[in-house]
Amino acid sequence: MAIPGSGLAKGLAVTLRTMTRKSVTAQYPDTQPDLPPRTRGVIGLFEENCTVCMLCARECPDWCIYIDSHKETVPAATPGGRERSRNVLDRFAIDFSLCMYCGICIEVCPFDALFWSPEFEYAETDIRDLTHERDKLREWMWTVPAPPALDPGAEEPKEIAAARKTAEKLAAQQQAAAAEPPAPSTTEPHADEQARAAGQPTRPAGESKQQTDQPKQEGRE
Ligand code: SF4
Ligand code: SF4
Repeated sequence: MAIPGSGLAKGLAVTLRTMTRKSVTAQYPDTQPDLPPRTRGVIGLFEENCTVCMLCARECPDWCIYIDSHKETVPAATPGGRERSRNVLDRFAIDFSLCMYCGICIEVCPFDALFWSPEFEYAETDIRDLTHERDKLREWMWTVPAPPALDPGAEEPKEIAAARKTAEKLAAQQQAAAAEPPAPSTTEPHADEQARAAGQPTRPAGESKQQTDQPKQEGRE
C-alpha cells in the first residue's frame, strides 16, 4: 500500500533534480542547432556531372524526381570521325513535399551529381513551392560540406590520383623548360661587329648607314 503523499514527494524530487541540471533546450530559431555534417536536409544538384541517365528518377520510391531532356548531335572531333549524340538536360526538379529523404537517388547516381546538404530551413506556405527546380537545386550545392578526410592508409580515390599525376607531369615539363639554356640567336650579327671581327674600320658614332654606304663624291668632280 502506497504511503499517502509519496507520489507528490517523488514528483518534487524529479523537479529538484531537473532544476539543478544544465538545460539542453535550444531556443530555435534564435539559436541554430548544431547538426552533424552529413545531415539529410535537402538535396543539391551538380548539373555538370548529370548525364541524364534517369537512374535516380527510376529508383526514387516516391517518384518525386522530374527530369526532361532532349538529344543533341555533337559533330565529330576529328576529320573522318563519327558524330555522337548526347543528352541535354532541360528540367531537373525534386518535389520535397513527397520526398521521404531516403537518399536512394544520391546512392544510385553513378556520376556524383546529387549530394546531401544539411540546410533544412525551406518550409513554404504553399506546397507547390516545395518543388525545387534545377536553379534552386544548384544553389543548395554551395551549402554541401566538404567530404570527410580519408582514413589513414586509405587508397587514394582514382579521380584525385589522376588529377595529381597530371599536375605533377605539367610541373615537371615546366621545370625542364625553365632549366634548358636559351637557344643561340639566329639573327645575323650587326654590320659593325662583322667589320670589327674582320679588322676593318667601323662607322663613327652618329653616322648613318646610308651616309656610310654612299660613295664619296668629293675629289671626283
Ligand atoms: S531522397 Fe528518396 S524519396 Fe527523396 S528524391 Fe531521393 S530517392 Fe526520392
Ligand atoms: S542518376 Fe545522376 S546522372 Fe543520372 S539523371 Fe540522376 S542525377 Fe543525373
